[in-house]
Amino acid sequence: MIKRRNLLKSATALAALPLIASTARASTPVSLTDPAVVALKYVEDATDATRVDKMGFKGNAQICSNCRFYAKTDAVWGGCALFQNKLVKGEGWCNGWVPLAN
Ligand code: SF4
Repeated sequence: MIKRRNLLKSATALAALPLIASTARASTPVSLTDPAVVALKYVEDATDATRVDKMGFKGNAQICSNCRFYAKTDAVWGGCALFQNKLVKGEGWCNGWVPLAN
């Protein structure tokens, strides 16, 4: 018979698994050949992209580090929620850019 304490320990361990998996993904840069990355025209240097004005923001002001989906991890990289938290460059950009919350 499974004791309640052991059941709670197991449930806690299982609940932590997605967190561990998420952390692992965040350390992996996006693949530039990933179909989702290609579809959204991600580039590691935003100045290589044609960025049109969007939501009141000039195109040339749009970079990953000021995007709502960006989560900075260090001075260069951050996880992108649109790409399963894989790393993108802070100076990058893609068509999914959305400004930080007002
Ligand atoms: S969604 Fe935002 S953070 Fe992600 S790649 Fe596009 S511009 Fe960068």
